[in-house]
Amino acid sequence: MTSDPRGGGSVPGRDWDRAVGLVSSAADVALACHISPDADALGSMLAVGMALRARGKRVTASFGERRFRVPRLLRFMPGQDLLVEPGSYPASPELMMTFDVPVADRLGVLAPNAGKARELIVVDHHASNTGFGTLNLVDPGAAATAVLAEELLDRLGLPVDRAVATCLYAGLVTDTGSFRHSSTTPEVHAMAARLLSTGLNPEEIARELWDRSPFGYLRVLGAVLDRVVLEPAGPGLVWTFVTRADRAAYGLPYDEVEGIIDVVRRTDEADVAVVLKEDDDGAWQVSTRSKGGVDVARVCAALGGGGHAKAAGFTSHLPVEQTMADFRALL
Ligand code: AMP
Ligand code: MN
Ligand code: MN
Repeated sequence: MTSDPRGGGSVPGRDWDRAVGLVSSAADVALACHISPDADALGSMLAVGMALRARGKRVTASFGERRFRVPRLLRFMPGQDLLVEPGSYPASPELMMTFDVPVADRLGVLAPNAGKARELIVVDHHASNTGFGTLNLVDPGAAATAVLAEELLDRLGLPVDRAVATCLYAGLVTDTGSFRHSSTTPEVHAMAARLLSTGLNPEEIARELWDRSPFGYLRVLGAVLDRVVLEPAGPGLVWTFVTRADRAAYGLPYDEVEGIIDVVRRTDEADVAVVLKEDDDGAWQVSTRSKGGVDVARVCAALGGGGHAKAAGFTSHLPVEQTMADFRALL
């Protein structure tokens, strides 16, 4: 691994040094990422977990969902044998680390464990991060949490092998929108080059993440696109929703419909795109995207959620029309 240049991150050197000290002296490390994990959350966590295990640490990793299930499209990631159900997670870890978690709420049922951890290292890149750790390695300028995870491994002197690199690359490629978002800097490509040099297979990773689904997905996508609404007033809003019943008709689990926002957001006439997804508990998980004219993180925060200026979300327990009325009023 090359360690420099590190791209001018905003985490102070003394915080990195403290993190290295805490991790180096720990025998047991408990890792967690946000609920409904994406590739950046799960990948950063598993990458650090595998590297620490190879160094001889006892590692536990999880995310706080009672119905614990790794999304189908993330099951290709190595290191899943580190995962335990939240019920088996240490109640008060000596050292806990969180990945891609901006606020303790997003730890789900593991939030109390974090509250009781002796040391809590928060590794994240959300500008909205509340600094809920005893040590916060938070850089809103980082394209992905995977960028910070790589730097941590580098500073710990832990090698990045092909398996670790596969997890980090999945996070990097996901959060940069396949190197299309404005976060795609020379440093991002330099990191991708380091990861690729381990021999990972970018074609296979991309296929697992974006280019496969059960046949029923096409039917559900058809139904969801059939009811899409364009509201050209103001910034331009395009939105649709996918119900539990839509998914049940084809036996689709919730995580299979998470990518629909990427189809909807391409609409030229709209700056803002919204997809409401009914989860298995009947709550609406709302994905929002902006092309830059609207700060959707601000809007979603006002509705109890959060995220980034161009990609954010919130949870609603109200009917679709009411949720959209509340959202519209904040634009
Ligand atoms: P998604 O639409 O699920 O891809 O999420 C986009 C961004 O919004 C991510 O950075 C998430 O962390 C954030 N986000 C999504 N849902 C929520 C929520 N219910 N509460 C807080 N942040 C969320
Ligand atoms: Mn995430
Ligand atoms: Mn992320």
